[in-house]
Amino acid sequence: MENVQTLCPECGSEHNYEIGELLACSMCGHEWNPDEPVSDGDVVRDSVGNVLADGDSVIVVRDLKVKGSASGIKAGTKVRDIRLVEPVDGHDIDCRVDGFGRMRLKSSVVKKA
Ligand SMILES: [Zn+2]
Repeated sequence: MENVQTLCPECGSEHNYEIGELLACSMCGHEWNPDEPVSDGDVVRDSVGNVLADGDSVIVVRDLKVKGSASGIKAGTKVRDIRLVEPVDGHDIDCRVDGFGRMRLKSSVVKKA
């Protein structure tokens, strides 16, 4: 895992230069310390530690019971275009699952596709 921030945290540009210990972005002027780990505050990780983002596709890694469904969601089900939300009972992914409709999943039961 890359834990050094070499892309501009503000605009994502790779065009930056060093000022002493800091890096400065030549695109937007933002300055930051590349040795400082990227803030993990709001990061949502999947079952194997990948960072998830809005719009990602994920694969459900284990069978999930769903109220009102005999079969539930099977491990291996692909879910497209997830949205990260404020966790409710640990459910921090809002998504639409084929055949089930809109629901919330826990990031701990999915893996980035
Ligand atoms: Zn920038």
